[in-house]
Amino acid sequence: MTCLENITASIAGWKDLSLVDVLGYPSFTVWFNFCNFNCPWCQNWHVVSGSERKDLTIKEILDIIADAAYLVEYLHVTGGEPTLQPKALEALYACVKRKNLLKNSLNTNGSRPEIIKDLITKKLIDHIAMDIKAPLSVPERYGKVIGLENAYEYVERVERSARIALEKLAFVELRTTFVPGLLMVDDLIEIGRELRELGCADGCYYVIQQFNPSETIRDERYKRLRRIPEEAMVRIAKRVKSESGLKNVYVRTIESGVLEIK
Ligand code: SF4
Repeated sequence: MTCLENITASIAGWKDLSLVDVLGYPSFTVWFNFCNFNCPWCQNWHVVSGSERKDLTIKEILDIIADAAYLVEYLHVTGGEPTLQPKALEALYACVKRKNLLKNSLNTNGSRPEIIKDLITKKLIDHIAMDIKAPLSVPERYGKVIGLENAYEYVERVERSARIALEKLAFVELRTTFVPGLLMVDDLIEIGRELRELGCADGCYYVIQQFNPSETIRDERYKRLRRIPEEAMVRIAKRVKSESGLKNVYVRTIESGVLEIK
């Protein structure tokens, strides 16, 4: 494993201590710029567009992480889509491992299975959080949610990434943001069934995320949507769990953070 500290990463920022990015563990979270999806409801558009951007070397990022490492267990890299900067991503993970600083976690939209497989094969990541944005069996819907026409190829890649993660990692989070108007409850149930068929069982957690309207959303229409209350999110997640047969289902809400569905 080669730790290349002089490679540069474009990042929007970082958070020393996050309790919501790795299920059950505190993380140091860093946001990599840019994305290859175009989700109209994207809550991190400032990250994707690069309107907030610093170009830092891996050495500079490592120094920042080292100061906060005593607080957390994982380095969580999110975005944007971190696999669009594969060299910087690999270098950062490799240096964190080499220095024995933290465990590594990746949040990805799943569109680059080759990069994900490479990172896992090199034993550089310990946890993955992957977005499943719509039912994989309905590519047209997937395309609508990610803001891209002809999403067939992307859906195939997301499925491949999920299979790789489920086969090779002991700790996998699969996540769907429940965006009102783009997804229905039946879509979440369908996603749950698909994930169970893909092998989401022990060590695999399906997390249904509440959509939170905010000023950083790309499309004005989604800034004005109302948030679904936590009680309703929990009711929906209970249905998903019982009708999909998935073992581990959680909801993530602004009100309470992460809740396990019993
Ligand atoms: S929601 Fe995620 S995948 Fe979609 S554009 Fe934003 S960062 Fe990219």
